[in-house]
Amino acid sequence: MDGSRPDALGVLAQVFGFDGFRPMQEDIVTAVTQGEDVLAILPTGGGKSLCYQLPALLRPGLTVVISPLIALMRDQVRALREAGVAAGALTSGNSEDETSAVFEALHDGSLKVLYMAPERLASGGTERLLINADVSLLAVDEAHCVSQWGHDFRPDYLRIGALRRALDVPLAAFTATADEETRAEIVARLFGETEPHLFLGGFDRPNIHLAFQPKNKPRDQILNFAAARKGQSGIVYCGTRAKTETLAKALKDAGQMALAYHGGMESDRRREVERRFQTDDGLIVVATVAFGMGVDKPDIRWVAHADLPKSIESYYQEIGRAGRDGAPAETLTLFGADDIRFRRMQIDESPAPPERRMADHGRLNALLGLAEALGCRRVRLLNFFGDEATDCGHCDLCDRPPETFDGTEAVMKALSAILRTGEYFGAGHLIDILVGTATDKVRARGHDQLPTFGVGQDIGRNQWSAVFRQMMGRDLVRPDPERHGALRMTEHARPILRGEASIDLRKDTLKAGGTRRAPKAMVSEEDAPLLSALKAKRRALAEAKRAPAYVIFPDRTLIEMAEKRPKTLDDMAAINGVGAKKLERYGRTFLEVITGEEEAAPHPARRKLAGRAAGDVYDRLLAVQAQLSRGEDGTGKPMSCSASLLAKVAALGPGAAEQVERLLGERLAERFGPAFEAVLDDV
Ligand code: ADP
Repeated sequence: MDGSRPDALGVLAQVFGFDGFRPMQEDIVTAVTQGEDVLAILPTGGGKSLCYQLPALLRPGLTVVISPLIALMRDQVRALREAGVAAGALTSGNSEDETSAVFEALHDGSLKVLYMAPERLASGGTERLLINADVSLLAVDEAHCVSQWGHDFRPDYLRIGALRRALDVPLAAFTATADEETRAEIVARLFGETEPHLFLGGFDRPNIHLAFQPKNKPRDQILNFAAARKGQSGIVYCGTRAKTETLAKALKDAGQMALAYHGGMESDRRREVERRFQTDDGLIVVATVAFGMGVDKPDIRWVAHADLPKSIESYYQEIGRAGRDGAPAETLTLFGADDIRFRRMQIDESPAPPERRMADHGRLNALLGLAEALGCRRVRLLNFFGDEATDCGHCDLCDRPPETFDGTEAVMKALSAILRTGEYFGAGHLIDILVGTATDKVRARGHDQLPTFGVGQDIGRNQWSAVFRQMMGRDLVRPDPERHGALRMTEHARPILRGEASIDLRKDTLKAGGTRRAPKAMVSEEDAPLLSALKAKRRALAEAKRAPAYVIFPDRTLIEMAEKRPKTLDDMAAINGVGAKKLERYGRTFLEVITGEEEAAPHPARRKLAGRAAGDVYDRLLAVQAQLSRGEDGTGKPMSCSASLLAKVAALGPGAAEQVERLLGERLAERFGPAFEAVLDDV
């Protein structure tokens, strides 16, 4: 070990409970610890916090962290304290007691990490306070907030440069999103003359599964996707405010916990939804893109788009909110011809200058290319951002390569219908002509007399819709806003029309309501009940502390516990995410869940002998319990049964109402009795 990094790995294991670094973390930690100025651009979930938290512990004195998200700061401080680190925050959300505790710790020099909201920098007192404290490092989270051109501009970030000069300490800045221009702006505004050591992480988020589906009964597609992931936290992004409300209601009617969120809601209500999403396990938020910056929950297990996002960058950012903890996460993006039309119009009708609108069409095209891709989606996505990649094996097209056909002839027929009708009509009318449906409109215009009339009878209407959508997706045709969205041919189509190029298209092989791909389970069937029990324990502990669940342990740590089933505290210490302090605090409690579970649940081999019924019943009871943990209306006091109690209930047969009530006792029976009996009766 070199002198300035006494034992980074040791602290990583001891305090954070991790046995290795994520890509780039080690180099960044080394540079920051050695006092270099650093700008690190790592994807969401790349583990940026650790890159300043660990050096903070290795360096003498205090590390000041500027972060724009108050809720996130509070969680980070909690998590650090849980790990035994002297951390505090100065934000507008503090109580007086909290603030004076921070001042005291600053005074006696015991504080190691101080989180601060940028607004604080506006008061002269802050600079004086910090000059008198023994600050040795300034860290800036979400550094792109200093960029005036971004969406997230925070004027107070402009004061950071001056603070750094006043303190004369190294500065480490972090962000997930920075194109070259933003990067230059960050450097100029935060670092001034000195060029920081730049670390540029890749864009890949390998734990996120990518999938797109053409819309086909889109509401069912979303409901099915959510149903297969019940109990997991997720976000559904919608194109309109009204849709967030209707879809949230549909999800609730389907028995899910779901809340709507959009910019038109009262700010108090919005804060409330954000808070509940952050702390509750298994809540779905149905939102417009207004649900963004404030969302920093590491254990979001899925993100669905009920409507196509506006560009490939937005898509990447929105799906990127899933799986920050590195555990498996899933996404589904729906798209249809209407989405394409809507997004094109939005760009055409925006007040932006023409070059900008062209660029926006290009970014939309990149996303449509991804939606209509015939090969690995990740390769395309990463290529767009300039990363090389090989087929990922973790997207819908790698899972199941699409059926394609030579679409050249179909596209030529469609183009011919468009041109022969003067580029004045939309897909519906054009399809009528192609399949030879003589509607009033077709007859009135004499389009039943065209040579193209009826030439497309070989494929059905639905397939024609898919052809037109793909033509729009590949930018062969575009809706013209001046002609009420009539389709017009673009330059890209010319080579096909001239017979100089061919084109493969995808067959839409969709069943109504979409395919119901079962999600890859987080653990095997054998380990699932234990994982649920561990989660229930975590939830109870978190609720007692009024903290989000992941502050106790992240999903990945619980998954590893469920799989490895540690038997002793020593085994427990070897689990990723269990540091010394957390071992001391929670080791025994979670061990009890694991060993209790082993006793209560039949041995896996025996369970198989008995048929899988008891195991299935147990899982269903757990699901029902999760649904009712806060009562019918979701507002009651949280309650749950122990794993062994559930196992006993699972072993009862139908018609065992009395025994169920006896086993549960009055309090639990009141909440869960009837629902459990219904499960048993349904075996
Ligand atoms: P971001 O880069 O998005 O800010 P975070 O710092 O919030 O990411 O880290 C995301 C998650 O990854 C957190 O739950 C964190 O505890 C976890 N994590 C970070 N570094 C490691 C590591 N070396 N090993 C295991 N988990 C890690």
